[in-house]
Amino acid sequence: ETVVNRIAAGEIINRPANALKELLENSLDAGASNIQITIKDGGLKLLQILDNGHGIRREDMAIVCERFTTSKLKNFEDLSNINTYGFRGEALASISHVAHVTITTKTADSNCAYRACYSDGKLVPAKPGASAEPKACAGNTGTQITVEDLFYNVPTRRKALRNPSDEYNRILDVVNRYAIHNSGVSITCKKQGSNQSEVNTLSTAPILDNIRQIYGSTASELLELSKSFRKLEFEVHGYISNANYNLKKMIFLLFINHRAVENASLKKTIESIYTTYLPKNTHPFVYLSLEISPQNVDVNVHPTKREVRFLNEDEVVTAIGDTIQERLASANN
Ligand code: ADP
Ligand code: MG
Repeated sequence: ETVVNRIAAGEIINRPANALKELLENSLDAGASNIQITIKDGGLKLLQILDNGHGIRREDMAIVCERFTTSKLKNFEDLSNINTYGFRGEALASISHVAHVTITTKTADSNCAYRACYSDGKLVPAKPGASAEPKACAGNTGTQITVEDLFYNVPTRRKALRNPSDEYNRILDVVNRYAIHNSGVSITCKKQGSNQSEVNTLSTAPILDNIRQIYGSTASELLELSKSFRKLEFEVHGYISNANYNLKKMIFLLFINHRAVENASLKKTIESIYTTYLPKNTHPFVYLSLEISPQNVDVNVHPTKREVRFLNEDEVVTAIGDTIQERLASANN
């Protein structure tokens, strides 16, 4: 049974960046305004996230790492109306099948924090012979999740992830995207080395400052985009580069209902619009946040596939393309 679970877990959590994305989304779901991330060996040795969100109640600690445990669905109808990031209740469970997990958490109405260790979805003792029950300890309101030795029990996966600095860059990419999209939330990402640590601080500065800080001061001119489409039931907001942002590769940050996703057809459409405005072999920066009625988004997409499908996709993509085209045209005549 554990082997089956481990394989299933590997389908959901396939690399450190992917685990971090799930943890980061949980912290944001918990209403955190301050999130501190610590990474060691590209997340393979240590992946830790500390937030000041609402915490986990003592009585829920035994089950948070069980499969399909989620506090985010109240009834069946909610399934077609999902607004939070999480809804499957599979992330923590999966992580606990392929790593050592420790959670320290405190809710505002509890007078102390509790700490517990998990393996294969269940509470386990911190030391052999000790009790597995959550232990009272000191701590502030919020949650700290420590993930150690990711894929220690999946040698093939571990082997495939040989380059920690590559994994770290993937983590940083996820952190940067969410920092742009959540400009009111303070996020820091600290890389722990053998004798040095590098901190990448993303402040709560206005979104434009954050974009410039993260994606470069060459972002000399960014155009704001904001439009709602009644008939297609969606809204688009964002910032796109004007003709003078010359990147070697397109930077495309796409959020649908506040979840970082990918959509190849939208990306292609946007790239082709920019070819008229950009010098040959240069590429744009595009950050788009789409709010689509949840019923119109396909929630059955596999968790590791960030590619998302939605209803009336062709019309929605065309509408966004037209909006970008108009914006670029008006800025360049
Ligand atoms: P999901 O996010 O789909 O509900 P997860 O496996 O990611 O499933 O998390 C399981 C549950 O654990 C969540 O529903 C939530 O109740 C709790 N949880 C996880 N991380 C946090 C956190 N940082 N703060 C508060 N609660 C959390
Ligand atoms: Mg989650």
